[in-house]
Amino acid sequence: MVDVSFKKITKSGGITLPRQMRQELGLLPGVALEIHPTDDGGLLLCKHTPSCHLCGSADDVKTCKGLTLCRKCSEAFSQEVTE
Ligand SMILES: [Zn+2]
Repeated sequence: MVDVSFKKITKSGGITLPRQMRQELGLLPGVALEIHPTDDGGLLLCKHTPSCHLCGSADDVKTCKGLTLCRKCSEAFSQEVTE
């Protein structure tokens, strides 16, 4: 379990995660995080997993021109566009 620690928010709105926490959780530079406000006023951070904009699946997704689609939705989408 990771110890609770306190960090101040910088002028630009950033925080630095403790080194030990980053190492234990594999949070390397460039890893995208999702930030979710919680019902009790807290924040939940988790690794970002790209998911399909249409069905929400995280399996076999690709992003093109800002739109992330799974293979199934991508094939259905291109079929509708070409018909
Ligand atoms: Zn999909």
